[in-house]
Amino acid sequence: MIFALETSCDETSTSIISPEGKILSHIIVKQSDHEKFGGVVPEIASRSHIQILQKIIPQTLFEAGMEISSINAFCSTCGPGLIGGLLVGSTVAKTMAIANNKPFYPINHLEGHALSVQINKKIDFPFLLLLITGGHTQIYYVHKIGSYKLLGTTIDDSVGETFDKVAKMLGMKYPGGPEIEKRAIQGNEKKIQFPKPLIKNNDFNFSFSGLKTAVRLKIIKEKNKNNSFTNDVCASFQNTVIEILLRKTEMAIEYVNENFPKINNLVVAGGVAANMQINKSFISLCKKHSLKLAMPPKELCGDNAAMIGWACLQRFNLGYKGDINFKPRPRWGLEELNDEILVNKI
Ligand code: AMP
Ligand code: MG
Repeated sequence: MIFALETSCDETSTSIISPEGKILSHIIVKQSDHEKFGGVVPEIASRSHIQILQKIIPQTLFEAGMEISSINAFCSTCGPGLIGGLLVGSTVAKTMAIANNKPFYPINHLEGHALSVQINKKIDFPFLLLLITGGHTQIYYVHKIGSYKLLGTTIDDSVGETFDKVAKMLGMKYPGGPEIEKRAIQGNEKKIQFPKPLIKNNDFNFSFSGLKTAVRLKIIKEKNKNNSFTNDVCASFQNTVIEILLRKTEMAIEYVNENFPKINNLVVAGGVAANMQINKSFISLCKKHSLKLAMPPKELCGDNAAMIGWACLQRFNLGYKGDINFKPRPRWGLEELNDEILVNKI
């Protein structure tokens, strides 16, 4: 039985995972205090984590019908993320571990996202992972747990942050991704041509800051900012992002097919993976390359403690030991988890 905490950004979440990997209880509280600022305020997030955790920890045990003494290991996200939130979550989880004489596992948030797709479905290693979140846009070859190869990453903004900033420019509320998706349905995706930075480069890296600026300039120049203009900006912007994601992922698929042990699955995970248009586009891409598309269910796309507990359970089962002295790390790449240089030998 694993008790997991996730506090790396503006979701406060707790979960209990059974030894079979079942989610016995799961609470996700999306902090609403940030909306009026149009983005996450780190200090407010940390304080809210403290308030919310006090309420939801007992609730999590209650939902699972369990005493805390039945828990075998405690874990929390220890990075990457906002350091205040990471400190709150890890201090609470470590305290629970010490008080109950059980191990504490520091879990990497990106590993949580990477493995989240396996909670409900059997997805075999190795697989290609496109991670699209509020903080990251990366492509990994996931060989197995503790063996990750970074193929490409954003050199500036993440795709989630780009959605959020474009939404803010259009006067929509935070988080902007779902708002843009809604408006895009009513817009014309071919109406506005936006640039696709790095699309012609021969690597798997992304850049979104130029696209963000192009959208900004378009909005400033437009005199008639009516509903139909906003819808067209949303549709054209979303379509541009999808084309960039598809192109880079396709290049990575071709590269992996030639250089690495065979993959059968493309996993698309992270908050932005909740976008249905992205989902549809990736279904076609996978068909073309005879791959299966695996995406976590919507409620496990964004930040959540179940994926942290699941990653912990995998490590626990593989015989990894806990580490009560682990210090949270605002920056903590997945490749830093590699036990051996296994993946580099491929
Ligand atoms: P995460 O960092 O994984 O919690 O994901 C949060 C990010 O996902 C935010 O930037 C959201 O705007 C973005 N997001 C959530 N839902 C959608 C959606 N339907 N379309 C695009 N982006 C989304
Ligand atoms: Mg995340």
